[in-house]
Amino acid sequence: MECKIIGVIGAGIMGSGIVQICALAGRDVVMVDVSAAAIDRGINSINATLARSVTKGRLTEEQKAATLAHIKGTTSYADLADCDMVIEAATENEGLKLTILKQIDAVVRPDAIIATNTSSISITKLASAIQHPDRFIGMHFFNPVPVMALVELIRGLQTSDATHDSAKALATTIGKTPISVKNSPGFAVNRILCPMINEAIFVLQEGLASAEDIDEGMKLGCNQPIGPLALADMIGLDTMLSVMETFYAGFNDPKYRPAPLLREMVDSGRLGRKTGQGFYNYS
Ligand code: NAD
Repeated sequence: MECKIIGVIGAGIMGSGIVQICALAGRDVVMVDVSAAAIDRGINSINATLARSVTKGRLTEEQKAATLAHIKGTTSYADLADCDMVIEAATENEGLKLTILKQIDAVVRPDAIIATNTSSISITKLASAIQHPDRFIGMHFFNPVPVMALVELIRGLQTSDATHDSAKALATTIGKTPISVKNSPGFAVNRILCPMINEAIFVLQEGLASAEDIDEGMKLGCNQPIGPLALADMIGLDTMLSVMETFYAGFNDPKYRPAPLLREMVDSGRLGRKTGQGFYNYS
């Protein structure tokens, strides 16, 4: 199915980015959040990002206006009735997402595709909330959405080929490069990335090298654009801990145990950039 009208749940960091790239690609987009204030924040963020593109000469004022005209912000799930696909990008909480998915399911056409941008929750589990789990899929975008090229497409146990192909076609037409992954904790990219970051924290904890030297080593020796400890600060150390705990519980394998220093940092309230202090100081 060609997805022409897209619904996005959540006007936060990820939701507003997904709305922006869909609207820029000429799709009509319905953006749902819980309050007018949240919708305004999302629209303002999109407006600011598009304005920067105009300043840099990547977009004309007309293209910016046309993009914004494709976006309808609302607090009513009923406004999703005409959507071909709805992408859930609300807060990372399993109970909340199950409730939201039921709300989406109650208002969309029976042939509509429902996707989730979760970064860790089981796609098969989330699919249990909707009537047609064959039309449910994970579409995992990366932050910042307008910049990062990748979308992971995650098939739950019941995801159909047709649903996968429609999601793949949409990802491609909005300028992303999709990869296909089976359902498993952390899917593919975070499964590889987060244990590497966790190991860097072990190396720091064991006093083998300073944070600066660990990051410099991985940048210069492995060609990484940002060191693993600086990246952990950017992701948020609470998020990192939650992802490692999901791996540890999901695989029941000690190789995924969170580094004790990571837990201690979280206990101390040093969560990275968002609190001004993580492995580095941002004040
Ligand atoms: P965020 O906190 O910036 O935004 C979440 C939004 O969801 C908020 O605006 C909130 O008001 C809204 N919301 C909460 N309950 C809602 C409801 N019942 N109906 C509609 N909207 C509701 O979070 P985010 O960083 O944008 O993350 C959203 C999702 O994307 C999460 O599942 C997260 O794991 C995933 N994700 C995040 C990143 C990242 O780097 N931040 C990367 C990939 C995936």
